[in-house]
Amino acid sequence: MAKRSGKDKTPRGICRVCGCVDEDGCPEGCDWADKAHTCCTACIDLTAEQMAAKREQSLAELETDFGFLISQLHELGAALARTRERWQVVRSEQAANSNEPRA
Ligand SMILES: [Zn+2]
Ligand SMILES: [Zn+2]
Repeated sequence: MAKRSGKDKTPRGICRVCGCVDEDGCPEGCDWADKAHTCCTACIDLTAEQMAAKREQSLAELETDFGFLISQLHELGAALARTRERWQVVRSEQAANSNEPRA
């Protein structure tokens, strides 16, 4: 029976070195090198030093992606707020028109 430490920081399906996943593998193409799916073939043969370098690089890339997504989110939020404002204006105008008394 497999031991469950509860402290396993390597989730299945994410390379512990480069962070690649099933949907987004390494650019050079990779496969899972272990049954647990915690290290891909692009990383399995690396030395500890190379692994550390690759991990750092992938972290930097993730941070870039993350920053980009966050900025997109902010833009989306602003666009959403503008749209909502316009919607409210149009809606209140519409309501005003339909309430116009017909003499
Ligand atoms: Zn990898
Ligand atoms: Zn990979």
